[in-house]
Amino acid sequence: MSTSIDLINQAPQLLHIGNLEAEEGWFKRGGGTSTLSNPKPDRERRKLMVMSVLIEHPTEGLILFETGSGKNYPEVWGAPINDVFARVDYDESQELDQQIERTGHSVKDVTMVILGHLHIDHAGGLELFRGTKVPIYVHEAELKHAFYSVATGSDLGVYMPHYLTFDLNWQSFHGDFLEIAPGLNLRHAPGHTPGLCIMQVNLSESGTWIFTSDMYHVHENYEDNHPQGWLARDHDDWVRSNQMIHLLARRTNAKVIFGHCAETLSKYQLAPHAYT
Ligand SMILES: [Zn+2]
Repeated sequence: MSTSIDLINQAPQLLHIGNLEAEEGWFKRGGGTSTLSNPKPDRERRKLMVMSVLIEHPTEGLILFETGSGKNYPEVWGAPINDVFARVDYDESQELDQQIERTGHSVKDVTMVILGHLHIDHAGGLELFRGTKVPIYVHEAELKHAFYSVATGSDLGVYMPHYLTFDLNWQSFHGDFLEIAPGLNLRHAPGHTPGLCIMQVNLSESGTWIFTSDMYHVHENYEDNHPQGWLARDHDDWVRSNQMIHLLARRTNAKVIFGHCAETLSKYQLAPHAYT
């Protein structure tokens, strides 16, 4: 059941644009912590999916939500980041442009890009939009924080200069809520980063979807209210955003898709299947 405007007729298509593996403590607070009785616990490693969402919007054209890590990102990231967040199970079909082709479109057809946040594994694919007029929408707080973090080195590594360039058509949005297009809502959900936004998509057949970006990496963050691990930035903000998303999901009966949860994504059909 849909609860809002039903103008989107074919969307979303879920693009699988890579796999990462890293220690669980990055995603779940306390994961792998040693104790007196177990001073050397098994450190669990976790496989994650990287994803984008492609939306064929009836009035705004082809909208891309998030862009993944970009081409050749292990070299761009370098050591030690690529060792900590290692690319695994790679094949060329996971490249963003190839995933878009799988849907019958070309990356050149994209009319708008929306970023949930600007970390390297979500914004690296912006390299495909350099020198184009395609608007790149991101929350004002995230845009400012990303450039500041790189310029001062205060959070360099999770953000990188590689894609924070002036030949992109940066557009910011402001405040807590924006209906960026009919049936497509963005909500500010700080915590993982200061300017992270979630995207709500309302469809006529499949109802409401919420794409959370890395507000939640894995389903336990949402389903068990298990806070993020070493990648969390502001815990109190995260708690407030968590409450907002739970209430939103409850009143819209939404499907909630997390930033990297392979287990969750495996329950859905990937591109070229298009949900309606
Ligand atoms: Zn991420």
